Amino acid sequence: MGNLLWLAFSGGEIFLRKDIVDIAKIFYRNNNPSIMLFPTNGLLTHVIRDNIERVLEHCRNSTIALKLSIEGMEAVHDRIRGQGSFKKTMETYEALKDLPDRYPNFELGVNTVFCSVNQDNMDTLASFVNGLDRIKTHTVSLIRGNVLDKALKAVDMEKYRSTIELLASNLRNKRSSTYRFKGARLKAAQDIVQRKVIFDTVAANRFQIPCYAGKLNIVLTETGDVYPCESFEMMLGNVRENGYNIENMLKSTRAKKVIRSIQDTGCFCTHECYLMTNILFNPSMYPKLIKEYMQL
Ligand code: SF4
Repeated sequence: MGNLLWLAFSGGEIFLRKDIVDIAKIFYRNNNPSIMLFPTNGLLTHVIRDNIERVLEHCRNSTIALKLSIEGMEAVHDRIRGQGSFKKTMETYEALKDLPDRYPNFELGVNTVFCSVNQDNMDTLASFVNGLDRIKTHTVSLIRGNVLDKALKAVDMEKYRSTIELLASNLRNKRSSTYRFKGARLKAAQDIVQRKVIFDTVAANRFQIPCYAGKLNIVLTETGDVYPCESFEMMLGNVRENGYNIENMLKSTRAKKVIRSIQDTGCFCTHECYLMTNILFNPSMYPKLIKEYMQL
């Protein structure tokens, strides 16, 4: 597959995989990822601490970003993620606190899924996260996809707008920090632009910028199926049926057809991971990126 800029593990909870460190090592050896992202609910304190330290020991030349999911202050977080979850996630934060000093390639962050239950309390949460001195970045993802409780998706987009303006102003005023890796300021600028694109996408209910899924992003599942993104409807192929050669697989008629359909149909969504690539690799977005970059 060649070298990777960004490798994100996803689940469910990724630290339930007993072989998560082995998987990370295989990608490190073969694909030299610049950044490896490990999102977690933070419940398995000792497992997370042990495994991420093994990754840090082995993958010295990659930035290793671990993101704890915090959905709100204790009552809100526990309502969404279950009784006692907040305390456990904070225990995990405490258990990870010494790692940034010991590993310069380690980045600790927080991600919050913006939904109807926490949309009224984002100011308090943002201040709380800013007060956690080892957390370098706080990102907010707009709820998406199939969720058990549909009421969670009844989001007030004006409240989302207020939240993204607050996050942007916190970054500009240095109330929030940014990651330590080279290019972190650009990543922060991209986060600001990305959240505005998401707001505009929902407001207009149509695509704002072309999607590079299948060209610059792919999703590889545990069975070897490859998709352009996590909508899981447009399979490009399976690595086992293509000699484990993803570059060749992406040249197949089937893959080309899927990728063309993404462009032809003006497919759109609010998935932050794909928008990151769609912004960073789209020159028409550079004036907006530079404008935000200069204010950071
Ligand atoms: S716009 Fe979203 S759903 Fe459509 S291909 Fe891109 S990432 Fe997938």
